[in-house]
Amino acid sequence: MTSPIQVADGVHLATGTDVNWLLLQDGDALTVIDTGYPGDADRLDASVRALGREPGDVAAVLVTHAHVDHVGSIERWWQEHGVPVLVHEDELANVRGERHESATPLDVARRAWRPRTALWAARITRAGGTAHVTAPHAQTWTGEGPLDLPGRPVPVHTPGHTSGHTAFLLADAGVLVTGDAIVTAHATTSRRGPQQLPGFFAADPTLAARSLERFRDLDADTIAPGHGPVWQGRPTDAVDHALAPQR
Ligand SMILES: [Zn+2]
Repeated sequence: MTSPIQVADGVHLATGTDVNWLLLQDGDALTVIDTGYPGDADRLDASVRALGREPGDVAAVLVTHAHVDHVGSIERWWQEHGVPVLVHEDELANVRGERHESATPLDVARRAWRPRTALWAARITRAGGTAHVTAPHAQTWTGEGPLDLPGRPVPVHTPGHTSGHTAFLLADAGVLVTGDAIVTAHATTSRRGPQQLPGFFAADPTLAARSLERFRDLDADTIAPGHGPVWQGRPTDAVDHALAPQR
């Protein structure tokens, strides 16, 4: 387990099986954004302990979207520690297992076959990538603006990858948590820097691109993505990178 890296004051990023999650710390209290694959459970717990806390100390898990690489431990944490899960209202059906908006590893392997993609598919399958994690207890937030949670995250609804995909602006820290709306690297491509995931990962690729416009006015200097390393720069510049034609 590599320790979480500090992205900004009170903001830590940890990496599991080709996927990131965030830990927002305010004194003794934590908010966690996303939880990796089911197979990342030990790493997730270790990342909380690396900050001197226990999973039961987590005030809530915010979920950017209900794909298995982001929700791996939400049900286990609820059962074992009573940690609530919050998602955008348009993501509730996905997280409760009433609707499916995701590519399977087989879809990906068929459409992007390369040796590295095959290795990635094998890796994520071992990490529980074919599991269906559902959380009937998931709830949504109400109102606009910062949530009353450690880190005071501001939800930014960015539909397309899934219907309820949500980024989170950490205004005080100057960090934009982009989930899978913008990633900075992915095993299915050699491209580096801010980018969208290949279109077949998205429920609605056109909408996913349009949603990025919501990032342009946000004031931040650091991008913390769902996949790939942290990127230093403004959201509007990340959007320009992500929408630039691929060479
Ligand atoms: Zn993802």
